[in-house]
Amino acid sequence: MRGLMMDQPLLISSLLGHAEEYHGTTEIVSRTIEGPIHTYTYAEAAKRARQLANALVALGVEPGDRIGTVAWNGFRHFEIYYATSGMGAVCHTINPRLFPPQISYIINHAEDSYLFVDLTFVPLLEGIADSLKAVKGTVVMTDRDHMPETSLPNVLCYETLVRGHSDRFDWPVFDEGTASSLCYTSGTTGNPKGVLYTHRSTVLHSYAIALPDALGLSCRDVVMPVVPMFHVNAWGLPYAAPMAGAKLVFPGARMDGESLHGLMELGGVTLSAGVPTIWAGLLRHMRETGKRFGSLTRTVVGGSAAPRAMIETFQDEFGVDLIHAWGMSETSPIGSVSRLKPGMDGLSEDAKMAIRAKQGRPIFGIRMKIVDDEDKPLPHDDVAFGHLKVSGPWVCARYFKEEPGPTHDEDGWFSTGDVATIDADGYMSITDRSKDVIKSGGEWISSIELENTAVAHPDVVEAAAIGVAHPKWDERPLLVVIRRPGSDLTREGLLEFFEGKVAKWWLPDDIVFVEELPHTATGKLLKTRLREQFKDYRLP
Ligand code: ADP
Repeated sequence: MRGLMMDQPLLISSLLGHAEEYHGTTEIVSRTIEGPIHTYTYAEAAKRARQLANALVALGVEPGDRIGTVAWNGFRHFEIYYATSGMGAVCHTINPRLFPPQISYIINHAEDSYLFVDLTFVPLLEGIADSLKAVKGTVVMTDRDHMPETSLPNVLCYETLVRGHSDRFDWPVFDEGTASSLCYTSGTTGNPKGVLYTHRSTVLHSYAIALPDALGLSCRDVVMPVVPMFHVNAWGLPYAAPMAGAKLVFPGARMDGESLHGLMELGGVTLSAGVPTIWAGLLRHMRETGKRFGSLTRTVVGGSAAPRAMIETFQDEFGVDLIHAWGMSETSPIGSVSRLKPGMDGLSEDAKMAIRAKQGRPIFGIRMKIVDDEDKPLPHDDVAFGHLKVSGPWVCARYFKEEPGPTHDEDGWFSTGDVATIDADGYMSITDRSKDVIKSGGEWISSIELENTAVAHPDVVEAAAIGVAHPKWDERPLLVVIRRPGSDLTREGLLEFFEGKVAKWWLPDDIVFVEELPHTATGKLLKTRLREQFKDYRLP
C-alpha cells in the first residue's frame, strides 16, 4: 500500500526559497575580490539568483547544460550555485589550483557552455581559451567599473548581465534525481573524474550535516566556509546554511590567518570549516599576535587528517571545538564526524582527545565497513585495519561519462581507497590512503600516524611519511620534514621524540629535512611526487 503524503521532489531551489521566506533579513557577508566587504540578505540573494536565471535563459542555457565556475567563495558564486541548479542546469565548480592542462581537460570533458570567472582567474582562462571546445562565452564576476581588458572571446560583465533581467522567475519543478552540480576529483592518478550530484543527494546531505551530532547548524549560527566552493561544494555549507537559516560569511581570496581572523570578528562567525593547513596558518597568527576569538565556538576540519595536537591547541588555548570530519568528492562530501557519545564526558581528557582525533562515526544515511584484500568484512575492534567501503544516498554511483559501469560493488558498496579501523562504538579512524600505506615485512605502517606524531613536535611545521624500498622488509618509513625557521632540531632529536609514541618497528628509518613539500590542488600531501623524488634513497 502506498502512503498518502504529498509527493514533492527535493530540489535545491527550495533551500534558498526557504531562506528567503523565513530568514529573509539574515545576512550574507563577503570579502570581495575588488576589495570592500559586501553585505546583503537572503532575500536579496534570492532575488538576484532569479535575475541570473532569467539571464541564463536569455543566453540560451538549457536544463542539463553545464555552467563552469572558476571562483572564490563569495556572494556572486552563491547566486550562481542557485541560479544554475534551480533552473535545471548543472553548476560545475572548477578548482583553479589544478594545472592549466587539467583545467582545460575538465572544462572540455564537462562540455561547459558558459564559464563564470572571478577577476583573479581571468589570466588563467586566457591561457587556455584556445583549447576550450564547447564554451560559448565567459562572464566575469564583477561590475562594469572593474571589467578587465581581456583577450577572452565573448566576454560579459556579471553585474550588467544580472541587472538587465527581471527578478520574477518561477523555479521549475522536476525530478529530484536531476543533476544539480558537478565536481571533479583532483586526479592524482589518471585523469580527473566527474562526480555528478543530484538535487536529492544535495538536499539529503544538507539535512544530514545540519544534525546536532554532525555539524549542528542553527539559524543562530554564523557560518564561514573557508573550504572553497570549488572543493566539493564547500562541503555542502552553501546549501545547509540557507536550509538552517544561518548567516553566511564568505572569505573571498584571502585565506591567511590575519584576514580570516579579521573577517570572523567582523561577521561574528560561530562555525567555520577548512582543511588542516588553513587552521595551522590561523593558529600561527593567533599565537604570534596574542589575539582571541570573539564568537567562534567550533570549526570543522577535514580533507586530510587533523593532527591531534591541532585539536588540543584549539581547545586548550582558544576554547574552540575543532570537529574532525571525513569525506570525499564521491560522498558529497561528508561521511563521518567525530563527536563524543553520551557517557564519554567522564573519560579522561587524554581519552576524549584520542576519540576526537579519529575521523568519526557515520552520519545518518551513510554506512561504513572495512574489508580485507578478499573483500571479507573485518571486525570493528579498533585493531583490524582494511579497505574502507561506504554506501548511502549521497555516495557516487557512477562517474560522469565514464565507462564502464558503476563505481560500487554488486551490493552497493563504494570502495573509498582509504584504509581504516573501526572501533566497537563505530568510530572510524583513517590510517592511510591505500596507495600510501607503508608495507614493512608484510605488516602495514600508518603514514598518517607517523606524520601526526611528528607535527606534535613544536619545531615541526609539516611532515610526510613515505615507504622507501628496503632489501629485507620490502619497505621502511622515511620521514620528510619541514622544520620551523631557525630551529636546530636534528634527526636524532626528532627520533627520540617518537619513542614511546609509536610501536618501535614503526619508527622511521631515516628523517630528511626539506624546505617545502609537494601538495595537490586540494592541499593534500602529494605522495606520488615524494615517492618519485626519493625512489632511489638509500636508508641507513
Ligand atoms: P581530491 O582532493 O583528491 O580531489 P577528495 O577531496 O575527494 O579528493 O579527497 C578525499 C580523500 O581525502 C579521502 O578519501 C581521504 O583519503 C582524505 N581525507 C578526507 N578527510 C580526511 C580526514 N579527516 N582524515 C584523513 N584523510 C581524509
